[in-house]
Amino acid sequence: MTQKANLYGRVFIECEIEALTGLHIGGAESSLSIGGVDNVVIRDPLSGRPYVPGSSLKGKMRSQMEKYHGLPQNRRIGQVTIHSCDDAKDYAGCVVCHIYGLPGELDFSTSTRLVVRDVQLTDESAEALNKAKTDLPYSEVKWEVAIDRVTSAATPRQMERVPAGAVFGPAEMVYSIYDAADLERFADVIDGMQLLEDDYLGGSGSRGSGKVAFRNIRVYTRAKGSYRKPRDFREAPFQNLDELAAQMDALLVWLKKDGVPVQER
Ligand SMILES: [Zn+2]
Repeated sequence: MTQKANLYGRVFIECEIEALTGLHIGGAESSLSIGGVDNVVIRDPLSGRPYVPGSSLKGKMRSQMEKYHGLPQNRRIGQVTIHSCDDAKDYAGCVVCHIYGLPGELDFSTSTRLVVRDVQLTDESAEALNKAKTDLPYSEVKWEVAIDRVTSAATPRQMERVPAGAVFGPAEMVYSIYDAADLERFADVIDGMQLLEDDYLGGSGSRGSGKVAFRNIRVYTRAKGSYRKPRDFREAPFQNLDELAAQMDALLVWLKKDGVPVQER
């Protein structure tokens, strides 16, 4: 059977991401790392600034949603095991696989709904970190001590982090609407963001790193028929996810009626 995708429109979530604790998203270890520090953070090769990869955000939101909905983690991809629906029947009702995607070779899979872009450090934060004269450009070096359980010997190890207070933005998530059910699933995207906030981003989360918050969240759409003209849910951005969640019902009503109207054939 040939599948025909019918794109009704897209919902855009634009926001800032604030590091509430130090943030360590690991980069490639190399002899070129600044100052020869271990456990470096990922940096934009052009600007030299740390950034938040979209894959880190999306991967964390996905894994949190898999756990939240108790889905079987049944497919090994490299180092990690993720949930992936095995048949069309499970897929039809799955809150994860439509949004976050399925391996393309499965014949029942449809387009991945959610795109999450890389997020750069804001110029304001870059300037503030420059002025603060951090250990390394835009980052701090945190020392942690591992204790040998038998000998009690302490082994210090170091980790590079973006300091608390740093702001990344604008972050952009793009959610595509292919059928009416996608409009309902939009609330699941927001759940994924909330679950990520309550967990952590990057490494060493259980030891205090990686608490982040979404700020100044704007929701707007572009829809079939008038794709060039964006439609805003409201003028002022939501200050945080709590404020957005409190208006979720009204937001869903708006999405269906004005945001991305879906007339299924
Ligand atoms: Zn699934």
